[in-house]
Amino acid sequence: MMISLESSNSENMNSNSNANFSASSSSPSAAAAAPATGTSSSRYENQKRRDWNTFGQYLKNHRPPLSLSRCSGAHVLEFLRYLDQFGKTKVHNQMCPFYGLPNPPAPCPCPLRQAWGSLDALIGRLRAAFEENGGKPEANPFGARAVRLYLREVRDMQAKARGISYEKKKRKRPQQSSSMLPPPGAI
Ligand SMILES: [Zn+2]
Repeated sequence: MMISLESSNSENMNSNSNANFSASSSSPSAAAAAPATGTSSSRYENQKRRDWNTFGQYLKNHRPPLSLSRCSGAHVLEFLRYLDQFGKTKVHNQMCPFYGLPNPPAPCPCPLRQAWGSLDALIGRLRAAFEENGGKPEANPFGARAVRLYLREVRDMQAKARGISYEKKKRKRPQQSSSMLPPPGAI
């Protein structure tokens, strides 16, 4: 049975979750590629739904079992660390000769991680999804202080390791191309 309606019926979500499994497994890498491309709001909504399904799947597979209502900031951190295995961003450790170089001249054995920007955007989407799915803002594990602190730590660590300042590199707001719209006099 195919149910792809975005209904509020939680049974739908359950019967849907198997079908979502293959899609959700690709989500971490999709999240890594997303930041620059999330211009349309429907793309954002789709990504948010995929992220939410991925997190639901993570809870389902969690040992010991974990329900959303018992999920804390600590579990969110666990989830973020779990996602690192799907990361594509080289983060040099301090022993590496390329530590602090934005464009290393050769390969090195340092681990691949989720880029800070991807995690930051992911948490933003999950935080919104939590409340859209009936969670109370004051109980939102994605808004927990520990999560904020962790993200800041990751940002600083990756900025040093990669020689990139996230402060200066503010993302430019995607400019709506004027050629997409009819000229003012055309209508
Ligand atoms: Zn390295």
